[in-house]
Amino acid sequence: MSTTSSTHFIREIIAADVAAGRYGGRVVTRFPPEPNGYLHIGHAKAICLDFGMAREFGGRCHLRMDDTNPTKESMEYVEAIQRDIRWLGFDWGEHFYFAADYFDRMYECAVRLIRMGKAYVCELSQEEWKEYRGVPTAPGRESPYRNRPIEESLALFERMRAGEFPDGSMCLRAKIDMASPNLHLRDPVLYRILRVPHYRTGNRWVIYPTYDFAHPLEDAFEGITHSLCTLEFEVHRPLYDWVIETLGFDPPPRQYEFARLNLSHTVMSKRKLLELVREGLVSGWDDPRMPTLCGMRRRGYPPEAIRNFCELIGVTKYESLTDIALLEHCVREVLNRTAPRRMAVMNPLKLVLENISDGERFVATAPNNPEQPGEGERQIPFGRELWIERDDFHEQPPRDFYRLAPGRAVRLRGAGYVTCTAVERDSEGRIVALRGRWSPMSERLKVKSTIHWVPAAEAIPIEVRLYGRLFRIADVSAIPEDQDFREWLNPDSLRIVKALAEPAARDARPGQTVQFERLGYFCADERDFRPETPVFNQTVTLKDSPVAPTT
Ligand code: ATP
Ligand code: MG
Repeated sequence: MSTTSSTHFIREIIAADVAAGRYGGRVVTRFPPEPNGYLHIGHAKAICLDFGMAREFGGRCHLRMDDTNPTKESMEYVEAIQRDIRWLGFDWGEHFYFAADYFDRMYECAVRLIRMGKAYVCELSQEEWKEYRGVPTAPGRESPYRNRPIEESLALFERMRAGEFPDGSMCLRAKIDMASPNLHLRDPVLYRILRVPHYRTGNRWVIYPTYDFAHPLEDAFEGITHSLCTLEFEVHRPLYDWVIETLGFDPPPRQYEFARLNLSHTVMSKRKLLELVREGLVSGWDDPRMPTLCGMRRRGYPPEAIRNFCELIGVTKYESLTDIALLEHCVREVLNRTAPRRMAVMNPLKLVLENISDGERFVATAPNNPEQPGEGERQIPFGRELWIERDDFHEQPPRDFYRLAPGRAVRLRGAGYVTCTAVERDSEGRIVALRGRWSPMSERLKVKSTIHWVPAAEAIPIEVRLYGRLFRIADVSAIPEDQDFREWLNPDSLRIVKALAEPAARDARPGQTVQFERLGYFCADERDFRPETPVFNQTVTLKDSPVAPTT
């Protein structure tokens, strides 16, 4: 099923460039994650756009590790990022790059800028640098080192690289305009001294380029045409263009900004996600409650649903908060087509069919998926005792309750009918079982509802993990800075239920999502796979689940 694609400003810009023959008609985009965390649903929006535009215009999209800041990067993240993008359905072919592999070329570009009189080594401390930079409403002050001789800057920069100076004692700055209303143009820092080993270049470098210097260079080296990023980089664009123009890259890559995805009831900051993982507030990056792609995969979200969601939310220039319910809608839409139907009972109540004798066996048939007749039917054995959902019975049914009640009949999915004849109680008056009379399908009783069930003799125990929202506030960004965002975590985001399922539930492959009829979609867990007691993660409820699986 394809979601209708509406056009957006980035598609229009690229189409116009292609039509005008700019870049010789080529379209080259890139997705540049920093390998300092796992990818989340916000990244999926960028991935779908970067790879999607390249695919649509017959171009290519590079996967580039934007690894110029050594402090938090690692190979674990590099590998997870590749796995998640492939899972989402995109491929970079041979165009896999590491920004760190360009360190030599970046250094040469910096030297060229110094030679041109466009960059200088500055020895102001960080505090002084900030103070000299000033505020947007008034011009800043020029560094006393700004006009030092080119030869002096060249020599100092080389010694910076050789490790002769301590961290933070000096830096390389572009010489642009200390009076610009855009603070990013007030002689921004291009290189800083940082004695942190890099996961890829080890101890080879003690100076590292800043994002603002590195990113345009990476794009230029790779021949990127359209560099798509989120809105917070809009104010950096004049500096991006300055680097490209000053160094004479032609044709110039161009940066375009779009609004990031903000999703309700969750966080997207890698720092906060890392905190949840480190402090054990979730079970890991792939905890099914996490907004990460690996978490969603483990929860049973199909990649197609995530792609459809990204298409549906579109690409704009305006920040907004998207309700997580929209993502869940996309998940249901795909799973309704693809997930095999099974029956499971979350809160079991025994039903004894009085007119079936102890050893007598019958077989019910039910479609594997009513949306896919080609997938055939499954057979479910049953006999005298069944488990049904406690919620499907009401001793004194309210007006709008059409399910089982004393004296009333309902359809048993695939297995005929039952009429409730008696209620059994324990010594404290609690209902422990129901008795009923079974009627085969051929009797065509007039009933108002169908309930699900599992055969008591063949039922298999399963563990079901029910998930609520990760946060109990829709807009997590609205939590004031002085408050701990963790206090808004939903304490009921995970509940574990021992449930009973029909035998076919055992055939679910790890990672496969099934629909437990009338309850919702559930994914056989990949990590905690146990054949004797399969574990199912709740993927999403049905649009109108008649039985709330949380009761
Ligand atoms: P951090 O949380 O550390 O600020 P980040 O989420 O921006 O980092 P990157 O690895 O730099 O992480 O992101 C890679 C790309 O994904 C960037 O081009 C960025 O613009 C894009 N991206 C990140 N978050 C979102 C989001 N919520 N919506 C859309 N695109 C995003
Ligand atoms: Mg970033």
